[in-house]
Amino acid sequence: MTNSRFRALEIISTRKRKPVVSPKEKISDYFGELTFNQAAMHEFLTLEAYNAVMEAIDSGKRIDRKIAGQIASSLKAWAISKGASHYTHWFHPLTGATAEKHDAFIDPVEGGKAIEIFQGSALVQQEPDASSFPSGGIRNTFEARGYTAWDPSTPAFIMGETLCLPTVFVSYTGESLDYKTPLLKALSAVDKAAVNICHYFDKTVKRVSATLGWEQEYFLVDSALYNTRPDLILTGRTVFGHASAKDQQLADHYFGIIPERAMEFMKDFEVEAHKLGIPVKTRHNEVAPNQFECAPVFQEANVAVDHNQLLMPLLEKIARRHDMNVLLHEKPYARVNGSGKHNNWSFMTNDGENLLTPGKTASSNLRFLTFLVNIIKAVDVHRDLVRAGIASAGNDIRLGGHEAPPAIMSVFIGSQLTETLNNLEKNFKNGKVKANNNIGMRLVIPKIPEILLDNTDRNRTSPFAFTGNKFEFRAVGSSASCGLPMIILNTIMADQLVKFKSKVDALVANNIRKNDAVLQILRKYISESKRIRFEGNSYGEEWIKEAEKRRLSNIKSTPQALDVFIRPETIDLFERTKVLSKRELEARYEIKLNKYTKKIQIESRVIGDLARNHIIPVAIRYQNLLVENVRGLKEVLDKDSFEKIAQTQIKMIKEISGHIDIIQKNLELMLDERKKANKIESAVSQALAYNEKVLPYFDIIRRHVDKLELKVDDGLWPLPKYRELLFLQ
Ligand code: ADP
Ligand code: MG
Repeated sequence: MTNSRFRALEIISTRKRKPVVSPKEKISDYFGELTFNQAAMHEFLTLEAYNAVMEAIDSGKRIDRKIAGQIASSLKAWAISKGASHYTHWFHPLTGATAEKHDAFIDPVEGGKAIEIFQGSALVQQEPDASSFPSGGIRNTFEARGYTAWDPSTPAFIMGETLCLPTVFVSYTGESLDYKTPLLKALSAVDKAAVNICHYFDKTVKRVSATLGWEQEYFLVDSALYNTRPDLILTGRTVFGHASAKDQQLADHYFGIIPERAMEFMKDFEVEAHKLGIPVKTRHNEVAPNQFECAPVFQEANVAVDHNQLLMPLLEKIARRHDMNVLLHEKPYARVNGSGKHNNWSFMTNDGENLLTPGKTASSNLRFLTFLVNIIKAVDVHRDLVRAGIASAGNDIRLGGHEAPPAIMSVFIGSQLTETLNNLEKNFKNGKVKANNNIGMRLVIPKIPEILLDNTDRNRTSPFAFTGNKFEFRAVGSSASCGLPMIILNTIMADQLVKFKSKVDALVANNIRKNDAVLQILRKYISESKRIRFEGNSYGEEWIKEAEKRRLSNIKSTPQALDVFIRPETIDLFERTKVLSKRELEARYEIKLNKYTKKIQIESRVIGDLARNHIIPVAIRYQNLLVENVRGLKEVLDKDSFEKIAQTQIKMIKEISGHIDIIQKNLELMLDERKKANKIESAVSQALAYNEKVLPYFDIIRRHVDKLELKVDDGLWPLPKYRELLFLQ
């Protein structure tokens, strides 16, 4: 029997490539054709129903039952015209993935016939028996029901033959069991708070939407190789694998010519994404070999989150068509770059004005500074919560590697804005800001320097960077839902703006002029939140020391990072903003801890299985070859020559034994720790035990397996090597 790795290599070299037929139409001809977008609504809905949906989108107004019936039958007609036979409520349970349960449109009628039917009640609300989703104790068996309810603010779409209706997922007792419910609440809270602040400067603003543009990084790997690596299949990452002699040292992949096979895949998934109304726009090679990125045009955050959740499984599905697999894990390969999902985040008014674009007039400049400084302040106050929002077992391995923003939260704003803020802080006297012409700023009335933005002022090492007209939250992991980071950022911003307003209003009530009051509070915030601002290299050792001095935490592991979810100040924050209740937070905390535990448990088992069944037997086989060789040499050589010549082989035999021995011993120790950890009842103690007692064995075992990879005959090695995984196209 040939070894599985060589069979995979054989498959790759003889595989026939399927050419992709690019669509003949322009993108604009098919963009959104599988979504119930405004054009489809116009065509299929009555005016009354259309207006009801629009009002629901714009102001969250409830749709009444009668209209819901009309909308449902129009949706059915539209979906059937596109070839759909089923419908589903599509939601985001706390697994972090998406969920769907398909029902046919069918209803039996007399005479053994059936008709297609879809009623308003089935559109608006469903009760899937979804009792196996994590609920963190919210749903006991006697109240195991969960409800899904339609969210009209993001368009329905068709996947395959199924009409998918984006929905929220809540328990019988009303607690949210998903990411969408709190996200909608956070977005509505920040909308309200931001509109109030905008009114200081412009009374006509009616709505403020948070915007999100994610950048999705991923790896591609040939399916034949993927299927030969149980670690990739079960954990999404390689638990073993020696570095390839060449990987990313030459930086010859980044922004390079997209390899043809990857390109065919990209063209294919982009067509599918565009049909679903996902406005993917940018594609390029990333730093590591076989690593790529895809980014859309930004959208309103709720829609953008849905679109990213839709895109991830789409990438996987289309890759399979091309005999490839997509790796969304944050760190599929050791020692080369991992993958992130930058969340570009800003705020937009109903007039399409970006609140983080420095304005041309004094008033719009002051508004810009107000939002900028409030974001900095919010991130400073809630830095540990922001960190917790991106915590996962996969991201733990990526953060603080020398290619990803570290686990220390800081904010980068660039030299110009730094000077502006410093200037505002220092030179603000008796309600006046002094001019400082040396740094390209001039005094404008009233008192706000016009900011000349230098868009090239970028810092790639910062976890949270201002990039001209938006903040880029870079620490989010590639496989994560944007849901939680967006819930957290928008909630802390909503809360911060409410506090800001109450302070400014108090000053105004004391006869201080509004702009002066705004400036006074901003100045206070600038000085209070200084510690979170860092313009230097966040990857450097000095920053770790400096951050310690500033008392910024550097929380390296998920179980520790999650702790902030149940701190009293977090519970207060989420209750105050009405985004999550104490019970919901506690449930989420427990679910996240359990997920961490299970991920490490699975990885630990995979390491055990692979080491025992794949690595050690092969090492022993190779060792036997060496032993035979030594025996043979002894037969053919005289004693003196044998003693000289056989030394090398004997040394190799001993080295291999040494590695096997260390691997075996550590596997046993790891198993003991796992058994102990499995007995622990408290979710947090269990997650900590997995982190502190089980996880440390991963590296020890890996080091010796990777050494064996270099020593054992390449012809025997069963797992595809890094040079194959990273370079074969
Ligand atoms: P990079 O950060 O790689 O240089 P870009 O500046 O082109 O890339 O932007 C990256 C992402 O930022 C894109 O997804 C884009 O849609 C998004 N983006 C741009 N403006 C905004 C905005 N106002 N709000 C949210 N996202 C935005
Ligand atoms: Mg970017």
